[in-house]
Amino acid sequence: MNSNTSITQSIALTEWGIKNSKINYQLAPEILQEKSVENYGGKETDNGTLAVHTGEFTGRSPMDRFIVKDEVTEKLVWWGNINLPFESDKFDALLDKVTSYLDGKELFVRDAYACAHKDYRLKLRVINEYPWSNMFAYNMFIRPEEEELNGFDPEWTVINAPGFMAVPDQDGTRQHNFAILNFSRKIALIGGTGYTGEIKKGIFSALNFILPVYKNTLPMHCSANVGKDGSTAIFFGLSGTGKTTLSTDPNRALIGDDEHGWTEDNEVFNFEGGCYAKVINLDPEGEPEIFNAIRPGAILENVIFKEDNTVDFADTSITQNTRVSYPIYHIDNIKVPSQGKNPKNIFFLTADAFGVLPPISKLTPGQAAYHFISGYTAKVAGTEAGVTEPVPSFSSCFGAPFMPLHPTVYAEMLSKKMKEAGVNVWLVNTGWTGGPYGVGSRMKLKYTRAMITAALDGSLEEANKGNYHVHSMFGLAQPRTCPNVPTEVLSPRKSWNNDKGYYETAEKLRQFFIDNFKQFESEASEEILAGGPPRKL
Ligand code: ATP
Ligand code: MN
Repeated sequence: MNSNTSITQSIALTEWGIKNSKINYQLAPEILQEKSVENYGGKETDNGTLAVHTGEFTGRSPMDRFIVKDEVTEKLVWWGNINLPFESDKFDALLDKVTSYLDGKELFVRDAYACAHKDYRLKLRVINEYPWSNMFAYNMFIRPEEEELNGFDPEWTVINAPGFMAVPDQDGTRQHNFAILNFSRKIALIGGTGYTGEIKKGIFSALNFILPVYKNTLPMHCSANVGKDGSTAIFFGLSGTGKTTLSTDPNRALIGDDEHGWTEDNEVFNFEGGCYAKVINLDPEGEPEIFNAIRPGAILENVIFKEDNTVDFADTSITQNTRVSYPIYHIDNIKVPSQGKNPKNIFFLTADAFGVLPPISKLTPGQAAYHFISGYTAKVAGTEAGVTEPVPSFSSCFGAPFMPLHPTVYAEMLSKKMKEAGVNVWLVNTGWTGGPYGVGSRMKLKYTRAMITAALDGSLEEANKGNYHVHSMFGLAQPRTCPNVPTEVLSPRKSWNNDKGYYETAEKLRQFFIDNFKQFESEASEEILAGGPPRKL
């Protein structure tokens, strides 16, 4: 790939009022890394991988994510506490302040694409205050060939100024940091936060509006890979449920680990050109592909070094959300281009910290729609002292923070596509077994992988002869046997060794599901309602 080529073009940013800046256009990642180490706090690991600290923010800040409310968005966006409105005039004023702040500084600019499928491609220009943020953009967006840069006319612009602090009273923000999408001006404006994930999720959120509204394409917060038979598998799930981990499979070619579209021609394509993996407790044996992707070109975020300059993946003293970004070609088995045909299996991943959902179950179309709209996972206590109870977390479409439209828009598109393509849908609990968080343990990765492999190659269906046990409290069809998985693991109740505790906890979770779904009941069909846990037992 063209990482070493030096680019001869230069560009100006005068249209943004930026006249006095040194503009570094399309720098090779090696040079961005050097600059990051020289002047921007970057360090190198023993194998030469760049590591940076993102500053005050080590994760996204959903309460500071706004959408400009204007004639383009007003009637289409699902306004509320996820999609917060921002005034058009306030945006213009804030943009002026940010560009004045950037004017005169050394800047890093990169042109790139989102969307691997040529018919859907979005041309981007990313303007960064810091070189490592620009290197992140190199890793995560799709890299144009040099000749494509001649006269490159970007449609959307990301303006990323982590060092700029907003004044809430004047600027209309909640606090000093913000990430604002303007669909009329086609700008993602990010300030006051250096967390790189805001850059990729800003463009993801833009596409989650553009693709369904203008291109009849379903955008999805999912990973995807393709088997030797050419059939595509899709893995939906909220953060930490295993999208990146499980799609990175040596036996299946990786399409992408986080953001995809499903077209009206039944094709699946990646929006991105790289992966963004969690590295907390990264185990080289359990996840060798990701471990080996951490080499020069990758960027580690918020990790702590040992004395020998290797990384201590167990150290969470900065954050639990330690990450690495790398261009997708750091993984050996990838699909080029990042597109797949013929989706045959969909997995909904959930990390159930209550430990009650079956490790794998097969969903009916109604159940699939119900679970897609619910978007369940659970959060665990983290480091907060004294909190031991798992907390349920429901996020529609397994990605509500990035979905500008009403969840039923995406759910209806998915239902239709699933029926047309005749896909199998599986719910996979990558969370707890043998008891809730604190008592039981996380499902072994090798068992989850074995269950997914068996679902994909048909051996799971065959081993159970299509006869599944229906879970009394969730109505889910659980296989009783699965190749390469001990039988006792397949029944969560048995894994607890405490029927009373199991049923009490299952009832608690069942109620959380029912309460959460009340907000969607009036819009849901009988089929979808019947896909939930029985409302009366
Ligand atoms: P994000 O949307 O934030 O990128 P993600 O869905 O991609 O999240 P992963 O990065 O794959 O989530 O994180 C899953 C984490 O859980 C990894 O750290 C992985 O090692 C760990 N894990 C432990 N057990 C399992 C399991 N049985 N299945 C999947 N992941 C597991
Ligand atoms: Mn991921």
